[in-house]
Amino acid sequence: MTFAKLGLIEPLLRTLQALGYSTPTPVQAQAIPAVLAGRDLMAAAQTGTGKTAGFALPVLQRLALEGAKVDSNSIRALVLVPTRELAEQVHATVRQYAEHLPLSTYAVYGGVSINPQMMRLRRGVDLLVATPGRLLDLFRQNALKFGQVQTLVLDEADRMLDLGFAEELQAVYAALPRKRQTLLFSATFSEQIRLLAGLALNDPLSVEVSPRNAAATTVRQSLVPVDKKRKADLFCHLLRKQRWSQVLVFAKTRNGVDQLVERLLAEGVKADGIHGDRPQATRQRALDSFKAREIQVLVATDVAARGLDIDDLPLVVNLDLPIVAEDYVHRIGRTGRAGNKGEAISLVCADEVQLLSAIETLIRQTLPRHEEADFIPDHRVPMTDASGQVLKKPKKPKKPKKPKENSAKRGLGKWMDSSDDAAPTVKPVRKVPSFGGPRKRKP
Ligand code: AMP
Repeated sequence: MTFAKLGLIEPLLRTLQALGYSTPTPVQAQAIPAVLAGRDLMAAAQTGTGKTAGFALPVLQRLALEGAKVDSNSIRALVLVPTRELAEQVHATVRQYAEHLPLSTYAVYGGVSINPQMMRLRRGVDLLVATPGRLLDLFRQNALKFGQVQTLVLDEADRMLDLGFAEELQAVYAALPRKRQTLLFSATFSEQIRLLAGLALNDPLSVEVSPRNAAATTVRQSLVPVDKKRKADLFCHLLRKQRWSQVLVFAKTRNGVDQLVERLLAEGVKADGIHGDRPQATRQRALDSFKAREIQVLVATDVAARGLDIDDLPLVVNLDLPIVAEDYVHRIGRTGRAGNKGEAISLVCADEVQLLSAIETLIRQTLPRHEEADFIPDHRVPMTDASGQVLKKPKKPKKPKKPKENSAKRGLGKWMDSSDDAAPTVKPVRKVPSFGGPRKRKP
C-alpha cells in the first residue's frame, strides 16, 4: 500500500516523502480514503500509530481542493484537543503536512495572552487547532465565527466527550453548522462514550485497527509492588540501578509532581515537572527540554498522558496508577511509538489494588510483577488478574504457635516468592467496579 493509492495529491505526497513516511499505517490506510470521501468517522487505533496524519492529511486535501476562501475571523476546519501541549504539537504536525499547500493553519489555547490570537484570527484560518475553553472565549468575544466550518475533528475523542469537557463541547456543537463532517480519533473508547459519540455522527464509519482499548504491543509492561511511603525512594533507586537514560514519570497529584522533582534536583538529577498549576510557558519549556533530551526525568500529572509524541522515549514509569483506567493506556503510549520498542513500569501499593484490577480488566492482561529486594512491601499488594478479580491470600489454618524462626520469614512480606505461598488456593473476593466512566477532575 502507498499513500498515492489512497488518493492523496502530489503536494502531500512530496511532503510525506521528505518526512520519510513510505507506507501508510493501518489507521491511515482505512481513515484517509473515508475522510476524503466525506464520511463521518469513529477511529480507534493504538497509541503512536499515526492517527494525526490519519485525519490531518485528508482534511487538508479537502480544504485545498474545495478551495473556498476563508473569511475574516472564520475557520474552515476545527481540530479540538484536550491539552495545550497537544494543541501545539498537533498544530506543528499539521503545519508540516500543509507545507506545499496554499492553506493557513493556527493553534489557540489557554494560559497565554488572548490578544495575539484575536489579531491572527482577523485574517481567517483554514485549519484551527484549539482547546475548548479558549475556543469558546474567542467565539464569545466575536473573534471567531463558525459559519464556514466544514469539518470538526475530536482528537483524543473519548477525553473530549467525557464529563470534564461536556459543557464546553455542548456549547461548541450548538454554534457549529449542522451540516458538517465529524471525525473522532482515540486509542480508547468506552462503551458509554461510543454510544454518546454515535449520536453526534452522521452514518459514521467505524475504523478499528486493534482490539478495543488495547495498550500498544510495542510496550513491555510490568509492575513493582511497594509500600506507598517508599515509592519515591524506589524510583530513585531504580533510576540509579537501571541507569535509565530518559524517563517520563506520572504522578497522581500536582503536589506529588513537585515533591519528586524537588527530590530529584536535590540528588543532582536533571528533572522538571508539568501540571495544571504551572504557568503555560513553564510547562511548554519543560516539555521542549525533555523532547530535546536536555533533562533526564519529566514528572507529570495526566495533563501529559494524551497524545504527546516524544521521539524514541524508552520508558514510562507510573509513580501512582491513574484513577481512570483508560489513562493507563494513554500514559504508557508515550513510549513504544512509530514501531519503536518501549517499556512501562508501574510502582503499585496495596491501596491501589482496585485501580490495578480495573486496568488489567480494560487491557485484558495481567501485568507481570517484579519484586525489588529491599523494597518488598509490608502491606502486600493482593494478586489480581485480567478477569477483574482481586485475589486475596487465603487464611492459613491455625497452627500452634512456633518460636521465632518463622517470624523472620513473615517479616519479608513476600507474596509471590515465599515458599508457603507456592500454590495458594486463592479465592476471588469481589468484583471490582469499573473506573472507566466519565470523570470531573482536572489533572
Ligand atoms: P501519532 O500517533 O499521530 O502521534 O504518530 C506517531 C508517530 O508516528 C509520529 O512521530 C509520526 O511522525 C510517525 N508517523 C506517522 N505516520 C507515519 C508513517 N506512515 N510512517 C512513518 N512514521 C509515521
